[in-house]
Amino acid sequence: MFYHMKQMTSEWSLSGKICVVTGAGRGIGRATALKLASAGAHMICVSKNESSCASTAEEIRESGHGAEHIAVDVSDGKLVAAVCESILSKHGTVDILINNAGIARDNLMLRMSDGEWTEVINTNLSSCFHWTKGLLRAMVKKREGRIVNLSSVVGCAGNFGQANYAAAKAGIIGFTKSVAREVATRGITVNAVAPGFIQTDMTNTLGEEIKETIPMRQLGEVGDVASVIEFLCSDGAKYVTGQVIHVDGGMYM
Ligand code: NAP
Repeated sequence: MFYHMKQMTSEWSLSGKICVVTGAGRGIGRATALKLASAGAHMICVSKNESSCASTAEEIRESGHGAEHIAVDVSDGKLVAAVCESILSKHGTVDILINNAGIARDNLMLRMSDGEWTEVINTNLSSCFHWTKGLLRAMVKKREGRIVNLSSVVGCAGNFGQANYAAAKAGIIGFTKSVAREVATRGITVNAVAPGFIQTDMTNTLGEEIKETIPMRQLGEVGDVASVIEFLCSDGAKYVTGQVIHVDGGMYM
């Protein structure tokens, strides 16, 4: 019995893993970085503004775990490629990649500008391509890796005023499943997490009436999403790939 429990615990350890989380400065990304660090991973916290990723990394170090930060615009493919190279030359490998950085620029389709379309597609979807391209080869070489991409309930169901965001989040699902198939024999899993409404800066303008659209009648907490991501990164999820895990209080069934 004791031996069995010990085995269960060690399945969740991320000790010695090198992990990149984009959008780690706030919200779901920050909670995920803190959670994976507490499971033993060395965290590389990425965000657009230096102050936010630096503060997450600082909090992790204060709790006795390893962390560093990198400020980079994830929509810039050239910059991301250079950052990936420097991470790999410093650490030799990356074991876990969480593509979490994202923005919303909502507007009705008839009013949506080219800028609102491209900014959301480049930040939310193309960033997944840039980071995966930059880090996947090292995972393939090591025959081990975990990639988790943040999609959304909106990517499955669509949403009023979010044609750009829904297209990016649906694209992430297709991207996830395709890459999962390509690397399935290499010990690498690729999954998506699709949150519903989670309490973060992204949702703080929503009114109380939004709760009526959620079967559980409440918004989720960042920790609810981080826990699922932690599971997908663990050994316990080694046979789970190409999946979309919904964390949405029952919105999408
Ligand atoms: P958030 O609180 O607004 O935080 C977004 C993070 O992404 C910030 O750290 C931000 O950096 C970073 N970021 C944005 N644009 C970037 C860029 N161009 N380059 C680098 N970093 C960038 O967002 P959240 O609510 O936690 O959402 C996290 C992810 O979950 C997103 O992909 C979002 O679409 C998805 N999601 C969220 C919800 C929800 O209800 N909250 C629901 C479904 C899906 P700075 O800190 O430097 O600004």
